[in-house]
Amino acid sequence: MMSDLSNRILCSSSNTDGTESPILAESDSDKPKVKYGELVILGYNGFLPQGDRGRRRSKFVLYKRTDPNGVKRSKHYIVQSPQTSQAILDTKQHSISYTLSRNQAVIVEYKEDPNQDMFQVGRSSENPIDFVVMDTQPGDKKDNKATQSTISRFACRILVDRAETSKARIYAAGFDSSRNIFLGEKATKWQDNVEIDGLTTNGVLIMHPEGQFCGGSGKCGLWRECSVGGDVFSLRESRSAQQKGIPVFNESNILQDGTLIDLCGATLLWRSAEGLHNSPTKRDLEKLVDEINAGRPQCPVGLNTLVIPRKVTLGEHVNQPYVYLNCGHVQGHHDWGQDKSTGARRCPMCLEMGPVVTLCMGIEPAFYVDSGPPTYAFNPCGHMATEKTVKYWANVDIPHGTNGFQAVCPFCATPLEGNPGYIKLIFQDNLD
Ligand SMILES: [Zn+2]
Ligand SMILES: [Zn+2]
Repeated sequence: MMSDLSNRILCSSSNTDGTESPILAESDSDKPKVKYGELVILGYNGFLPQGDRGRRRSKFVLYKRTDPNGVKRSKHYIVQSPQTSQAILDTKQHSISYTLSRNQAVIVEYKEDPNQDMFQVGRSSENPIDFVVMDTQPGDKKDNKATQSTISRFACRILVDRAETSKARIYAAGFDSSRNIFLGEKATKWQDNVEIDGLTTNGVLIMHPEGQFCGGSGKCGLWRECSVGGDVFSLRESRSAQQKGIPVFNESNILQDGTLIDLCGATLLWRSAEGLHNSPTKRDLEKLVDEINAGRPQCPVGLNTLVIPRKVTLGEHVNQPYVYLNCGHVQGHHDWGQDKSTGARRCPMCLEMGPVVTLCMGIEPAFYVDSGPPTYAFNPCGHMATEKTVKYWANVDIPHGTNGFQAVCPFCATPLEGNPGYIKLIFQDNLD
């Protein structure tokens, strides 16, 4: 079963859609890679607008490493000046420094763990970061303005058990180029019995779905915060409040298929290798678009045949379908029923007034909870997906700003509008 899965991965590695990992390209071995899972940034439809490059991409595939690079907690002790302590100065030694006061810090040394692989995520492009993640702008990102980032340069680390590959654990904060993590005086920290632990400034929030992500029966679970030591807490009163949440002992930091990870500025979706095995591939999704196009959907006004683009095309083409967001009727480009003052249009089919938007296929397979025809679209962006996929995401709360939550389209991160936030598409097709 495992070799089956690995073969599929190898077959798809020649794609140029951003699904291949930089690690795969560096590999000189012919052995099939063991895939742990994928981290996918919410808000991208298969690739970054400027193209996937190296460690900056819309998703990152975690493969078993040739040599383990995991670390685990070993001894800890109090020092007067952490900056000059041996563990901090030694750039081969992983350590976490918890500053208690100006002249007191607890240093926890970490030692090599041959049973685990470590992957680090953050805004920094320094070497120890495997997956470089920048703040996500909602919408089409054509005018991507640089904003003040809230994502930590070394935001989080994931450790995967090399033997039990479904056990991927997440921890707040990542080791820097000197293999250190510094928690300053102001960071929230505490000492239970002997172990010291803490939270990062904006924190790492996780949400395990209730029920299975695959199949569409899963529901949005509760958002929790994950500590530097990997324990799970209820949310703080506000994102970077001093007081930590209440420990949640019956939940863990082990990622499940569909777990969301919020880094304050970008939200990542974890898909396990097993979950992806049961999900549609990009090719499956492209076939579904072809099937709709084969039905030759028509514009009831222009009577021209509409073609759903398989790729996002810049600029409008003559066969581009549009959807009326209040009724779901799909039509071509025309000026009928336009209200010049509001920009809204009256649908020629049902006379309903409402906004009109370009229809575009949601082509990132990781966001799909099931396979099937893309008969629904998100409101207001017009990204198409299956009924269950659209309904799942419309009910998932994504952290927004420092204190709010909102449902968004996973393909472009646009906040959903209206209730329920999506529309069933009505094509005029298969006429002959
Ligand atoms: Zn209509
Ligand atoms: Zn969208």
